[in-house]
Amino acid sequence: MRVAIFSSKSYDRQFLTAANQAFGHELVFFEPRLTAETAPLAKGFPAVCAFINDRLDAAALQILAGSGTKLIALRSAGFNNVDLKVAAELGIKVVRVPAYSPYAVAEHAVGLILMLDRKLYKAYNRVRDDNFSLEGLLGFDLHGSTVGVVGTGKIGVCFAQIMRGFGCHLLAYDPYQNPACLELGVQYLELPELLAKSDIVSLHCPLTPETHHLINTEMLEHFKMGAILINTSRGGLIDTQAAIAAIKSGKIGGFGIDVYEQEEDLFFEDLSDTVIQDDAFQLLQSFPNVVITAHQGFFTRNALEAIAQTTLANISDVERGHPCPNQV
Ligand code: NAD
Repeated sequence: MRVAIFSSKSYDRQFLTAANQAFGHELVFFEPRLTAETAPLAKGFPAVCAFINDRLDAAALQILAGSGTKLIALRSAGFNNVDLKVAAELGIKVVRVPAYSPYAVAEHAVGLILMLDRKLYKAYNRVRDDNFSLEGLLGFDLHGSTVGVVGTGKIGVCFAQIMRGFGCHLLAYDPYQNPACLELGVQYLELPELLAKSDIVSLHCPLTPETHHLINTEMLEHFKMGAILINTSRGGLIDTQAAIAAIKSGKIGGFGIDVYEQEEDLFFEDLSDTVIQDDAFQLLQSFPNVVITAHQGFFTRNALEAIAQTTLANISDVERGHPCPNQV
């Protein structure tokens, strides 16, 4: 099938081209993000391949449908950026990659915890500057600390397993209890209770209308003073302004994020020569106890191989009229 691949970077081209040897689709790579403005680029393509910050709202979908697109193949697990109702009305199928490497994201969350707890970002810079002082680098043992996991699906359970290895006490909040977590000895609690008991809280639930700003001013009040908050899931789970206030008051003692509410205007691009206009982002960057990575949780070669393989297999399923297990 002819596939227009949006938001494509060198690594997308590399992994998709390699995997496509076994599928034989006609892949055309476009660098721009997919929005209503760029959707006309897909004219005549029956399939469009999109990533997390592509905006598949009603306007973009109508343009795509009008120019012959019948399939959106997301190379991501999350699909909060697609107006599914409008896609269905327009007869456009949406497929995704529900799992590629839950380890990649879970391990990145753990990396952010270690960065913040042991101040590795400061230590790295200090030593490079021949400053060997330990003042201000004091951390705490993860062993024996309490970790709250919000969302215990594929990534949450991997994260829980790793933190169990450190010797942490594990709490969780999820409307559905995961037997694998129960086996690990994870205790399920309501969210406010989990927040009140956790030294570290890590978010692993999807962004939906129900979870938008799940962590808001009210919920932040439940946190232990100085707790670490990690978000490798989706930026919209946290009310950024409320988080900034909690960092300023000391309620949040460490804030590690791989995702950000307004990331679509920033992440995946080299903006080092521009003045960032997002004041909230700049304020976060100025705090000494905030570590931000630019949505790289998924970014391992294992995950990229799996994403390419599943994306192309999804497209083949739809092309052949087979039922696709990954249809949203
Ligand atoms: P999953 O579907 O396997 O698990 C999600 C879990 O969240 C489920 O157990 C579900 O019951 C739970 N949940 C739903 N609503 C909830 C709520 N209100 N409160 C608490 N839990 C709730 O998904 P997954 O593969 O584990 O991925 C989790 C999220 O990670 C994705 O939705 C995506 O946003 C994010 N993600 C980020 C990256 C990255 O690169 N940073 C990569 C992949 C996925």
